[in-house]
Amino acid sequence: MKSSAIAVSGLRKAYGDKVVLDGIDFEVAAGSVFSMLGPNGAGKTTTVNVLTTLLKADAGTVRVMGHDVATATKEVRSVIGVTGQFAAVDELLSGRENLQLMADLKRVRSGDQVVTRLLERFDLVESAAKLASTYSGGMRRKLDLAMTLVGNPQIIFLDEPTTGLDPRSRRTMWEIVRELVAEGTTIFLTTQYLDEADELADRIVVLSDGRIAAEGSADELKRLIPGGHVRLRFTDPAAYRAAATALREVTTDDETLSLQIPSDGSQRELRVILDWLDSAGIEADELTLHTPDLDDVFLALTERTSKEAIAQ
Ligand code: ADP
Repeated sequence: MKSSAIAVSGLRKAYGDKVVLDGIDFEVAAGSVFSMLGPNGAGKTTTVNVLTTLLKADAGTVRVMGHDVATATKEVRSVIGVTGQFAAVDELLSGRENLQLMADLKRVRSGDQVVTRLLERFDLVESAAKLASTYSGGMRRKLDLAMTLVGNPQIIFLDEPTTGLDPRSRRTMWEIVRELVAEGTTIFLTTQYLDEADELADRIVVLSDGRIAAEGSADELKRLIPGGHVRLRFTDPAAYRAAATALREVTTDDETLSLQIPSDGSQRELRVILDWLDSAGIEADELTLHTPDLDDVFLALTERTSKEAIAQ
């Protein structure tokens, strides 16, 4: 079994009467991408702040590469890098100067070489002398992440790394994350994009109402909820009625002349439906397949909580 880069047990945090984290436990395997999902206000940033020593927990233990965040602050800080919201990027410095400043702060040996390599890696060489204030959103994210990599941290916290980025810059960030993982870095990712967790994360936890509502790989989470179905749409009302009467377990929609048949989307189940339609001489005008995605899982898991919140 891979060793744990992060181990969290019984973590609690409240602000006054408001309990934000109500005793959460999880482990992050070294060299993996771990993603924390949750609606706004679920406590993701609070968790990251405790894990990165910026905030003291009320109870519980958190170990980062074996170091206790409550007592070994310095050791924890020496093995982590934190990005997010460009907190570290100085607008009035160039890209190169920002990186150099970080190398100086972290007392990195051969700082100039490290900076040059990072500029190359992140495709920022041409803009290295320009002020960060002139950078596009995607370039800033890259600079922010490059600054985090100065000093080779073993664990990187990425707080919503692609929020507001165009699709191409998102892809670039995803590629960089994959490269880092291939090199053995552990990534702790918070995101509001479920497709991002689906793409990158080995393990996902869904935070809801101060607790972990579900945990697993994207596929395991998708299996938790029903929702897969095949949708058949007809233009011929007679064909629609024939199919609606003959097929079992269907949901009908007379207005759009369509039927929904529960299905796991497997080849075998699709073949059964198609064979049946063929043998009955019925032709559907459109067949679409809906498999549950992380959006469905997320809604199913967090719906109850938000409804309760609205009722209060
Ligand atoms: P997320 O990152 O998932 O959106 P946060 O961790 O930022 O959630 O916040 C969780 C809850 O804690 C929210 O209801 C927020 O209003 C509250 N909160 C966060 N920081 C403070 C603070 N310093 N004082 C009081 N309440 C806070």
